[in-house]
Amino acid sequence: NKARASKQAASFDLFLGDEAKKGEVVTRFPPEPSGYLHVGHAKAAILNQYFARRYEGKLIIRFDDTNPNKEKEEFEDSIIEDLELMGIKGDSTSHTSDYFDELYKLAIQLIKQGDAYADDTIQEEMRAQRMDGIASKRRDSTVEENMTRFAEMSTGSDEGRKWCLRAKMSVDNPNKAMRDPVIYRVNADTPHHRAGTTWKVYPTYDFACPVVDSLEGVTHALRTNEYRDRNPQYAWMLEKLGLRNVNIWDFGRLNFVYTLLSKRKLQWFVDRGFVSGWDDPRFPTIRGIRRRGMTIDCIQQFILATGPSQQVINMEWDSIWTLNKKLLDPVVPRYTALDEKDLVKCTLSGAGVPSQPEDRPVPKHKKNPELGDKVTVFGKDVLLEQADAKTFEEGEVITLMDWGNVKVKTISKNGDKVESIALEADFDNKDFKKTKKTTWLSSSEARPSVKVHLVDYDYLITKAKLEEEDKVDDFLTPQTEFKTEAIADGNVSQLERGQAIQFERKGYFIVDQVAKDSGEKMILVRIPDGKVETTK
Ligand code: ATP
Ligand code: MG
Ligand code: MG
Repeated sequence: NKARASKQAASFDLFLGDEAKKGEVVTRFPPEPSGYLHVGHAKAAILNQYFARRYEGKLIIRFDDTNPNKEKEEFEDSIIEDLELMGIKGDSTSHTSDYFDELYKLAIQLIKQGDAYADDTIQEEMRAQRMDGIASKRRDSTVEENMTRFAEMSTGSDEGRKWCLRAKMSVDNPNKAMRDPVIYRVNADTPHHRAGTTWKVYPTYDFACPVVDSLEGVTHALRTNEYRDRNPQYAWMLEKLGLRNVNIWDFGRLNFVYTLLSKRKLQWFVDRGFVSGWDDPRFPTIRGIRRRGMTIDCIQQFILATGPSQQVINMEWDSIWTLNKKLLDPVVPRYTALDEKDLVKCTLSGAGVPSQPEDRPVPKHKKNPELGDKVTVFGKDVLLEQADAKTFEEGEVITLMDWGNVKVKTISKNGDKVESIALEADFDNKDFKKTKKTTWLSSSEARPSVKVHLVDYDYLITKAKLEEEDKVDDFLTPQTEFKTEAIADGNVSQLERGQAIQFERKGYFIVDQVAKDSGEKMILVRIPDGKVETTK
């Protein structure tokens, strides 16, 4: 682990390069408050924090709030909370909207310098012209004309709405990102969640990002490399405005198979009620994967291990869940649950079988005594799962886990189904090498087991990698939630929401809902362990 950590550190040094100096590095994580953070954002946030700390510099959390149509206070609050959960704390927090005055003045500066012009070319035509390298008919308007039109835009009037402001970079640069990008737009109808109705025009990301990075003292702007084509326009803005340059470092997006990592698309699922909310366990949001049983430690380790590589990584969920399981296994307590369907009633006889049910302490985890003991009920009436009972033969010795060996005396069946079994204690026989190990629960009336729902999930979409042109509608998994009923040992009723456990021979689960007075059962969600793919 140490070796891996130092190898990682080495590649990170290489990544920031020579000009990065201790104490002088300033990075920023700039989420748009238009949704909840997902695991891709976690990568960006963790890398930014990593570099800030490593170079003893500063991390800025900046809300990139330039589009009032999509942004909400609710999302800001959730982002702050989720960052805190991941141990990410900025040295300062800011908003792009804090700079609306400066941005506006700088836009006017560009107009006055002849480096920006107002355009009323309709959107589709503008797109076509940019594709084909054709100049807008407004490209050579005078400074006065542009000033008047930008002023009109700023009022949000019907006339103003027809216009946008474009940087005068290039008509036909082979890099299409350089073809006069839009830098200001009118948005007169939706109040901004912080600035209210003060502004009718808003800067675009392409303009606001370099300007605010520079004004805030950012030295290293980490961006995902799908923005690489936009690096020259970023530099252009700063140069034309005479602002301090910023180093751009790009890294590959983190993607996962069968997963949408776009707030817009996740919002689509929320709006249609296909999920219960942004924290649905099927969602790749920080809240979603935590509800599914992923630990913060796992997210951090996983992201630092994948590092700032340039490749767009299309991860299998298996790899991160396998790591999660490794972290959970030694520390989560173990309990017993049985599939409630067709339970098999067994009666135990012979030496050492208590005539009355009795409580005995049993370690919650045989290899981790720190977890302490649980109370297991031992008695002559026990229940087994149908699936186990089916494999037994009369005369065979089997092992009741955490108890001992017993001999199968008689099996009573109804057709294929095992109804009951008479077992005889063989506790002195300590040979467990070849015996079938079976989970069991006492069926004492006095010490009842707990009824629970076990829930498992499938991917929301059926295609490993959706292309931009694919319609999500065409790739929806018909059923994504699978509930089974089970009974669990009485200790389980004391667990709290968010507690991860192992059900022996079943796997890992996390408590999603405790039992309610209204009679609603406890709900436990299966934590994927990287072995059994959830896809049915
Ligand atoms: P989304 O499409 O999910 O809204 P975004 O990039 O538009 O993603 P922002 O809130 O603008 O969302 O992103 C904040 C930061 O997170 C940006 O620096 C962005 O590059 C980074 N980021 C977003 N998605 C990923 C990802 N899948 N992998 C790595 N970094 C990401
Ligand atoms: Mg964005
Ligand atoms: Mg996006």
